Amino acid sequence: MLLANYHVHSDYCDGTNKLEEMVIAGVAAGLTSMGLSSHFPLPFSNDWTMKVENVKNYLDEIKRLKKKYTAIIELYCGMEIDYFIDRQDISDLAKKIIPQLDYNIMSIHTIGKTFGDDVSYIDESQSGFALGIEKYYHGNIQTFIKDYYEGIKNMVITFEPDILGHIDLIKKYNHDHYFFNENERWYQKIVTDCLDGIAKTKTKIEINTGANLRCPGVGRYPSDWIIPEMIKRHIPITIGGDSHSIAGIAYEYKEAETYLKKCGYQEYWMIKKGRWEVQPLGV
Ligand SMILES: [Zn+2]
Ligand SMILES: [Zn+2]
Repeated sequence: MLLANYHVHSDYCDGTNKLEEMVIAGVAAGLTSMGLSSHFPLPFSNDWTMKVENVKNYLDEIKRLKKKYTAIIELYCGMEIDYFIDRQDISDLAKKIIPQLDYNIMSIHTIGKTFGDDVSYIDESQSGFALGIEKYYHGNIQTFIKDYYEGIKNMVITFEPDILGHIDLIKKYNHDHYFFNENERWYQKIVTDCLDGIAKTKTKIEINTGANLRCPGVGRYPSDWIIPEMIKRHIPITIGGDSHSIAGIAYEYKEAETYLKKCGYQEYWMIKKGRWEVQPLGV
């Protein structure tokens, strides 16, 4: 069974449970190593990330939980940090806080301009996504997809995060090929070019198992066809539930493990005693 989850939200951001409740759920699910990763504050107003003034409390609370649960689970302090395509950068505050974390996840959630408070998101709603593509790309989804994966690649090469979050989040509202067809060559070429860049770094791609819980029918991030492409390039993986509630702690872990093994992955990466180590799959 899979023993780790490094993508765990809480009520410090848009999760519904307290950090401690998530930890207790992790223990109950049999995890031995867990990373807490609330959304890092953004440099514009929003209702889904941690507030700047709560960062210190968050760090302190995780310290307390690490001590309290030390005998039963290893806990690590992380954050999910946003990279902005229009800036090709993360925020200055994120750069300051990263050295205080045990690990970091980097992800892209925004479309277009991230200055001012009227920012468009990839994953808020289907209509919001469509509006963002209209506003910044005159409805040309291919141009956006190019920019998105170019951004993912630049982010990984520039910052080499420990974990790349939900690489293909842009498919979240793409049921029945609503915006694009993943099976088409142009799309697959853009994704594999991105993987070529990622493969030059030490960044681990997250197998994000929580997508179906929050948006039924999405599958996992990355999509199944991408996994063999990652193996070809020897790209290391971690496991993340993108858990926003205790129900999401080890959501669809069995299915993910079975599929990874079927494709030929033999190991995933875990933090043990503070260091990243490989863990065989299926043990
Ligand atoms: Zn995310
Ligand atoms: Zn997340």
